[in-house]
Amino acid sequence: MKLVSVVVPCYNEQEVLPMFYEEIIKVTDKMSVDFPELEFEFLFINDGSKDKTLEIFHTLADRDKRVRYISFSRNFGKESGMYAGLKNAKGDYVVVMDADLQHPPAFLPEMYKYVKDGEYDCATTRRVNRKGESKVRSWFAMKFYQIMNKISQTEIVDGAQDFRFMTRQMVDAILDMSEYNRFSKGIFSWVGFNVKYLPYENVERPAGTTSWSFWGLFKYSLEGIMAFSTAPLAISSLLGIVSCIISFILIIITVFKTLVFGESVDGYPTTICVIFMLSGLQLFCTGILGQYLSKTYLETKHRPIYIAKETDELYRRKKQENQNKDGNNNNNDNSQSVK
Ligand code: UDP
Ligand code: MG
Repeated sequence: MKLVSVVVPCYNEQEVLPMFYEEIIKVTDKMSVDFPELEFEFLFINDGSKDKTLEIFHTLADRDKRVRYISFSRNFGKESGMYAGLKNAKGDYVVVMDADLQHPPAFLPEMYKYVKDGEYDCATTRRVNRKGESKVRSWFAMKFYQIMNKISQTEIVDGAQDFRFMTRQMVDAILDMSEYNRFSKGIFSWVGFNVKYLPYENVERPAGTTSWSFWGLFKYSLEGIMAFSTAPLAISSLLGIVSCIISFILIIITVFKTLVFGESVDGYPTTICVIFMLSGLQLFCTGILGQYLSKTYLETKHRPIYIAKETDELYRRKKQENQNKDGNNNNNDNSQSVK
């Protein structure tokens, strides 16, 4: 038998989780019939949700023993959620997908067909359009992919998603990348392997809201650039060289004007302009340097990527203990009443 672990990071998903569970059960039950060699486990990650997500996990764990979960001590972000899921998944294959049904479970049988014979190590979906997204957002996304692919050796495929069906070998390779600043789109691509892209049209969330603001996405894209490219550092050196050349030309012109034409040079405005421009440039470059330094600083601290506060194992053990205690109490009551 082959075990498939379905990893689902969740942050405030109380509205869609029951729908998601129903949908995934429908698809995986059918897959167990079509592919009798498959069995499933569902590994949910509660990324410090403030709503009833954890309570829903409890209900699901009570109902279905294939449901496992890890609940974080606070919100660590989706990247940490995915890492925790991959690290704790026991499957021969691992699926990563969102809880909001924007990654339709109906794709799973097709994805499995591609990875099962070993032709591909990973099957994933790729958005063919950005329907339902604002024009400004789409434009920034497009620009991000363009810039990223120009300055980074790791190819970041436009529209590729975190919805993945992967072999154990690929998952282990991803887990070997234990960096603290995680940018999955880059990591998935960096590890290589044969990836099958399945085209799909964007679907909107049936309920709940996205936790990504425009600003959040912007910061995330900068993180991505810094995690997979050192080009911005080279930009500082380039700007330095360019400003040196400009200043050298300016010096020659000034000396020429004064010596040959005897013109006096207006000192004050030009000096102010040059000071402003150069100090701006210097601060900009120091800023870039600082960003990389801060990332290095965080990496060297070796902080954990996530902290688990509760797991299904703990929950099930506690429940069992309580049941045993209740059973013992009842027995004691009975024995007393017999006396
Ligand atoms: N998510 C998470 N932690 C976060 C933010 C999001 O685990 O801090 C999960 C969320 O529950 C969902 C997935 O990541 O399952 C994608 O989030 P969302 O739908 O908000 O992003 P979008 O689809 O808009 O990119
Ligand atoms: Mg979503």
